[in-house]
Parts: sequence; C-alpha cells; structure tokens
Amino acid sequence: MSEEEGPLVRYEVADGVATVTMHRPRYRNAQNAKLTYALDDAYLKAINDDAVKVIILAGEGKHFSAGHDIGTPGRDIEGPFERRATNWYDHVDRPGAEGIFVREQELFLGMCRRWREIPKPTIARVHGACVAGALMLAWCCDLIVASDDAFFADPVVRMGIPGVEYFAHPFEMNPRIAKEFLFLGERMSAQRAHEVGMINRVFPRPELEEKTADMAQRISKMPRFALALTKKAINQAEDRMGLRDTIDATYGLHHLAHAHSALTKTDHIGGMDAKKMAKSLKGES
Ligand code: ZN
Repeated sequence: MSEEEGPLVRYEVADGVATVTMHRPRYRNAQNAKLTYALDDAYLKAINDDAVKVIILAGEGKHFSAGHDIGTPGRDIEGPFERRATNWYDHVDRPGAEGIFVREQELFLGMCRRWREIPKPTIARVHGACVAGALMLAWCCDLIVASDDAFFADPVVRMGIPGVEYFAHPFEMNPRIAKEFLFLGERMSAQRAHEVGMINRVFPRPELEEKTADMAQRISKMPRFALALTKKAINQAEDRMGLRDTIDATYGLHHLAHAHSALTKTDHIGGMDAKKMAKSLKGES
C-alpha cells in the first residue's frame, strides 16, 4: 500500500493538548496542497474543540519536514485547490507569472498567516530536518522546541529565490545572521538556532516528546481567553515592528525571482529538484 493512501495528517487529543502530525514519512513530510489542507482541517478541529487548549505540530518519521513538495509522486502543483486563506481565483490555466503567484499566495503565504492567527497557543516540535518551506510551518507557530539532532536551513537562494515565501527571516534571527543563513544556505544546528533566538528550547532526542508534552500541559493550565489575548498582543507587536510589511514587500521580490528563473532557466525554481537540493545540504554544518 502506498503511504499516500493513508491520512496525510494524524490528529490526537489528550489532556487538553491536540497533536497534529504530518504523515508523509516516506517523503520526509514534503508539503503538497493535499497535506496543506489536511493540516488546516486538523487545526480547525483543534480550534473548534473546547477541550483543546494547546496545539503541537510534529512530523512522523526521521524528519519534521523537508519543505514544499518539489518532486514526489504526490506533487500536485498543477492541480486546482480550495481558496480558504485568500479570495484568489483558481490558478490552474493561468499562464506566465500569474498561476504561481496565485498558488503561493493561497497555499504558502495565506495559509501560514492563517495558522499564525489560530487563537490557541501552538508549539512546533522539530526533529531532524526543518528545511525551506518547513521553516514557515514552524515559524508561524508560537513556540518552537527541537531535539538536539534537529537542523534548520533555507537553501532556496540556490534556486535563485531570496528565501521562502513567508519571509520572517530578519525577525526569527537578527538581520546579519539572516543574511548568513540565506547567503550560505547551510544547516543551522538546533543549538545555534537556540543561541540566535529562533527556537525556545533544545531537548535530547529521546526526551523531545515528553518535554514538549510537559510544556504544553503547563500552558494548558492558563485561562483560555488570556492565552488568546496574549498571543494576539505579541503578534500585533511583531506586525507593528514590520513583520507583515516585510513579508508583503518580499513576496514581490520572491515572484520576480520565480519569473526570472522561468524566463532564463527550465522552470520557476531554477531547474532544482529534491535530489539536487538534498545533495547541496550534505556535509555542511
Ligand atoms: Zn515560491
């Protein structure tokens, strides 16, 4: 049986905490449109369940996620999609830059912003790889915890693109570190990610689940509405510091890059695929 036949996202609730687990382990949880909407379904379930106070996002298998699907058999880049996060029209038959602009606005940028506004605390529980598009899934959570073997990377400059769509890099780390992170496109260890302030805690791999559950439990004892208001207060502050405007401004550059690559190379990601990208990350630390 192909793993694609099972649910792409697993959902469990225990003691007031919902755990949402991406489930494409064979493809390192690469994010296609189907997985995106399955994630959104799971988040909606958690929002609507009064018994849920805190949400944990995790990945099944060896890695949290390898990012956007750029080459598995389940890649669904040509297909239609629902419009939940935006009011864009269907993109499928749109030529030139239009189709990809619309698709990424909904599936990547729109969805991440929608998830950032979930009115309950969210915790990304990262192990193994958290690469490119996966950073966006983690960054739009409120807290990020990681095992000591986790690593983070945004290698998309190799594709000719100035970073992933949800361009929070200069907010997740200071601007000079963000330049290093992007210019080199190398792995950043969990330890360094902690030192630069991108993640909250680093735990030994065998303790990751238990320590994350403990943290979620402690948060879940707080009053629901106060948690929602606190989250909103800090998100509003980040937007006033420029997060929202930075992402909007960079989205234009991002699509200039996609269009440039499509005009000068074989496709909008500069002819790169999952294999070439994985190879480029090997041996770097
Ligand atoms: Zn893109």
